Amino acid sequence: MIDLLIRNVRIEGDLTPVDLGVDNGRILARGLNLDYVAAQEMEGNGRLLIPGFVESHLHLDIALMNDWQTPGRPEPYRSHYGLNEAMERRRREFTAEDIERRASTALEMASRHGVTALRAQCHVDREVGLKHVEVLQQVKEKYAGRVTVQIVTFPQQGLTNHPDNADLFREAFRIGADVMGGASNLDVGENGRIDWQVHINAAFDLAMELDVDLDIHADLGIPPTVTLDELETVYIAQQTIERGYQGRVTVGHASTLGVATPEVAAEAIALIQEAKLNIISQPDLYRLGREDTHNVRRGLTRVKELLAAGVNVTYASNNVRDALRPMGNFDLLEEGLILAYGAHMDTVEELNTIMRMSTYNAAQALRLPNYGLEPGCTADFVILDAPTPSAAIIGQVEKMMVVKNGRVMATN
Ligand SMILES: [Zn+2]
Repeated sequence: MIDLLIRNVRIEGDLTPVDLGVDNGRILARGLNLDYVAAQEMEGNGRLLIPGFVESHLHLDIALMNDWQTPGRPEPYRSHYGLNEAMERRRREFTAEDIERRASTALEMASRHGVTALRAQCHVDREVGLKHVEVLQQVKEKYAGRVTVQIVTFPQQGLTNHPDNADLFREAFRIGADVMGGASNLDVGENGRIDWQVHINAAFDLAMELDVDLDIHADLGIPPTVTLDELETVYIAQQTIERGYQGRVTVGHASTLGVATPEVAAEAIALIQEAKLNIISQPDLYRLGREDTHNVRRGLTRVKELLAAGVNVTYASNNVRDALRPMGNFDLLEEGLILAYGAHMDTVEELNTIMRMSTYNAAQALRLPNYGLEPGCTADFVILDAPTPSAAIIGQVEKMMVVKNGRVMATN
């Protein structure tokens, strides 16, 4: 007897429904009329079954700090810098219990929306020390059977501005962090100036010393113009190639790439592809262009051109109900619809791509082992109340069933 048998589900690309057999946390078989006896059997009625959603960039330690449920919240929008200041002010009030409660709620909400793996950005600095990492490490262990969590050490307060920083980050990895972070244009170095190349080098040095992947916030702004040499993502691509770190480096945002002329962008994208950078677009359309009085810019990176060049592009929630964005539900189907509008991705093929971006592409960025729907893969999947990805995104349909490690987490 096997653990779970799902009858009549559609898997992207196949019009004919198939059965899926699950045992011991793995996908055992996939095909027509599978002949198994199962402890639990479910009828899919021709619905779409996708591998679990992968939230590739989420600020888990600050999520829900600005929830609409709390009187007096959310913080009103001020300016990009005003938002960061509000974040800093509120961040100092956090206790370990507060972070634990919000992160737990966030993971439960994400799981109900079909997220089975998540990369959490987590503040590390001399002011908060390792408090956020310690709490997220506990939360990661508590929810291990429900959502696989990777912790990124996020140096929003700087990496090069104090000689003790490197040791603090080394310690974060000793207690469980997984991925080295970066915040290239937020680090005011010891000389009082932002030198993003110095910051990027320091982040690479630590990642390579610790043999961990690197995930950098870069090109966060939308200046009026930009040259190839001014693009942080281009420098990251050059460093990746030079240091032989292809496939292990991810860039979040890359908004400035949208500013570049087509000629500059083409050169940049060729380098990004050569370096095998993963690019995480943030489709929230919330943060940038606020001061524009006409032709308001939205700050989305060049999603379609990157995809066309073969770059691994995904999208993520980034900020959910915190000082940097009052909206969001940890729902990648919802963020996918926002991306569809923002990036003009509306054909059936493009909507299929969006679904792959938050599943297969995001899993590739996180380098999740055994991800997918082939026999032998980890049984992390979601059944959506629609027959195709385009119908699921347009209809914003229910997640009928969420399965993690072969165990049913939620049904609808
Ligand atoms: Zn971020």
